[in-house]
Amino acid sequence: MIQLTEISRTFEALWPAAGAELWDAPGFVTSHSDAVTGVLLSVDITGAVLAEARAKGCNLVVAHHPFLLKGTQEVNHDSLKGSVLTYALKHSIAIFAAHTNADIVEDGVSDVIAKKLGLTNIEPLVTTADSEGHGRIGRLVQSMPLQKFAAHVAETLPFSARGVSVAGSPEQLVETVALCGGAGDSFIDAALASEADVYITSDLRHHPTLDATLTPRVKPLALIDVSHWAAESLWLESAANAITNAHHGVTVHVSEVVTDPWVFSINRGER
Ligand SMILES: [Zn+2]
Repeated sequence: MIQLTEISRTFEALWPAAGAELWDAPGFVTSHSDAVTGVLLSVDITGAVLAEARAKGCNLVVAHHPFLLKGTQEVNHDSLKGSVLTYALKHSIAIFAAHTNADIVEDGVSDVIAKKLGLTNIEPLVTTADSEGHGRIGRLVQSMPLQKFAAHVAETLPFSARGVSVAGSPEQLVETVALCGGAGDSFIDAALASEADVYITSDLRHHPTLDATLTPRVKPLALIDVSHWAAESLWLESAANAITNAHHGVTVHVSEVVTDPWVFSINRGER
């Protein structure tokens, strides 16, 4: 059986910690000295995800989002963070995160979204190193109207309550696509400066979105807002395959727990 230290070397090879942003907190938040019984991959760490890990016989959970990213004053057993950590320590479950260091690499979070959308000539939207960087930009094999492309995005992603929201004219043609997994409004300027016809990311706010659509440009930039969980969950399967390829004997599962907090949406005229 494989030890945690051994599998952590694979994680470092796949997602070097040095690639993480300075504000980020990738790596282990809990660990143990037991052999790894199985790995569960998830976007977030929640009590339900840890219970799933235990039910599936996994004592290592690899999440995209760090569990303790912001300053934590206490981990009391009855608090949000404390209850999860108490459970993890009680049941000897190691928790590991690969966050911005997993965003930038080939077959990382943004790269997988670009590939699943069928883009070609995929390159980082903002290059940080050889074939690495923030977001991705690529081309569709055949251009299509924005409305049809948005439907393609919705079909590519897992179901989410709010679907995809689109800023742009339904008829405008889409050929070059920029995207960023997670909350990528900090790369709107990079998308505006690129050849992209559309920029896909999550958690877009009113003002940056409005300003982007109104920015003078050869052709207006359309924006598509997608579920943060749905977009990033595409990476889990690819990460699971990479771990399985490195350690054939280890059981690797992708979490079935949907951690998208949005459960339903409703509009005027609907019941
Ligand atoms: Zn994220």
